[in-house]
Amino acid sequence: MEKVIIIRYGEIMLKGLNKSYFENKLVKHIRHALSDLGKLKVYKEHSRIYVNVEEYNENQIIERIKRVFGVVSISPAKRFPVDMENIKKVVLGELQDKLQKKVIKTFKIESKRGDKKFPMKSPEISREIGGFVLENIDSISVDVHRPDIAINVEIRNNAFVFSEKINGFGGLPLGTNGKGLLLLSGGIDSPVAGWLVAKRGVALEAIHFHSYPFTSERAKEKVIDLARMLATYCGEFKLHSINLLPIQKEINEKCPEEEMTILSRRFMMKIAERIALKSKCDALITGESIGQVASQTVNSLQVTNEAVNLPVFRPLIAMDKVDIIQIAKQINTYETSILPFEDCCTVFLPKHPVTKPKLEKILYSETLLNVEALINEAIENMDEEIIELEI
Ligand code: ATP
Ligand code: MG
Repeated sequence: MEKVIIIRYGEIMLKGLNKSYFENKLVKHIRHALSDLGKLKVYKEHSRIYVNVEEYNENQIIERIKRVFGVVSISPAKRFPVDMENIKKVVLGELQDKLQKKVIKTFKIESKRGDKKFPMKSPEISREIGGFVLENIDSISVDVHRPDIAINVEIRNNAFVFSEKINGFGGLPLGTNGKGLLLLSGGIDSPVAGWLVAKRGVALEAIHFHSYPFTSERAKEKVIDLARMLATYCGEFKLHSINLLPIQKEINEKCPEEEMTILSRRFMMKIAERIALKSKCDALITGESIGQVASQTVNSLQVTNEAVNLPVFRPLIAMDKVDIIQIAKQINTYETSILPFEDCCTVFLPKHPVTKPKLEKILYSETLLNVEALINEAIENMDEEIIELEI
C-alpha cells in the first residue's frame, strides 16, 4: 500500500490538443515546488497527478502543492491494488485512525467506480463497506446527509481511500499564458493584482519605482518582502527598481503642481513598457481600481493608458477595497502591505491633484520636459535583482 496525494485539476481546460501541454506544465511546477524536499515521485495518470508521500512530510508537501496554480483540490490517500477485502480493512483503519484524533459519531461511505469492469456498482460497494464498519466499530452510526466524516472509496486502476479534500486556488499553470510585467508598489493592491493575473497562467516580472533618498531603504525592503511572498506562488522572478526622483524633480520644476501625479504615472507606464518589451513581457499589470484615488478616475485611467501601447491588465478595476483586502489576507501579503513606509508617490503629492485631466493639457506639459532623455536616464540607472524562493 502506498501513501499518495491525489491532485485534481480543472477539466474544462483539458479538452482537445491543449491537454498534455497543460498537464506537463502542471507536473513540472509541482516538481519544482517540491524540489528541495528530497526525491519525490510525481506522476500523472488518467487526468490526475499523484505524489508519493510519507507520514512525516505529508503536511509540508500539501502546503506547497496548494500554492501551485492550476491545482483545484488535493486529497491525501491510500493507494493499493483493487480487492474488496483489502478496501474494507483500509477504510476501517482510516476511521479508527481519525477516531483517535477527534470525536466521530456518524460516517458515510462515498464510492466511485471508475473501472466499469468491477462487478459491484457504487451503492453496493458503499453498503458493503459501511456494513463492515458497523460490525467492527460499536460507537458509530451511518448518516448519509450530514456525517461527521465521509470516507471516499474510488475504484480505478487501483483502489483509493481518502477522507479529506483540500481546495487549491484553481487557475492555470504558470507560463501557459506568457509573461507580464507587474508594477509593484508597496501598497495593498498591486501584489493582489499580480497574484490574480499569475493565477491565470501569466508568469511575472516586476518593476518598482522609488524616490531614494526621499524614500528609505526600509521602503525598498518592504517591496522585496512582498515580491518574495508572490514568489511562493510564482517561483523566482526578476524585480527591476527605478529611481523616479530625477523625473519627479523635473516635473515639479516645470509643470503645474496638480499634474504631478498623473504625469508621474505616465512616466511609470512608459518606463515599464520599455522594460516589458526588453524582457519579453506581453502585458503590463497594475493594481488600479476605478475611483480609488484621483489618479484612478476613469479620465485619469484614460490619460494614463494613452501613454503605452502594450495591453494593461487591471484585474482589480471593478473591485471594492474590502474585497481586495480579503484576497491580500488570503495570500499573506496584507500584513506587509500595511507597514507604514513612504511610497514615491507621496513624496511630491499635490494638494489638489487633477481628477479630470485633459489629454491635450497633459501632452502639452510633457513638451516642457525632455521625456526621452529622462526615461533613458532612469533606465540606465536601473537596478535588477532576482527574487528567490525562500520557504
Ligand atoms: P497600491 O496599493 O498597489 O500601491 P494604490 O491604491 O496606492 O495602489 P496608486 O498609487 O494610484 O494606487 O497606484 C496604482 C497602481 O500603479 C499600483 O497598483 C501599482 O500597480 C502602480 N504603482 C503605483 N506606485 C508604484 C510604484 N512606486 N512602483 C511600481 N508601481 C507602482
Ligand atoms: Mg500605492
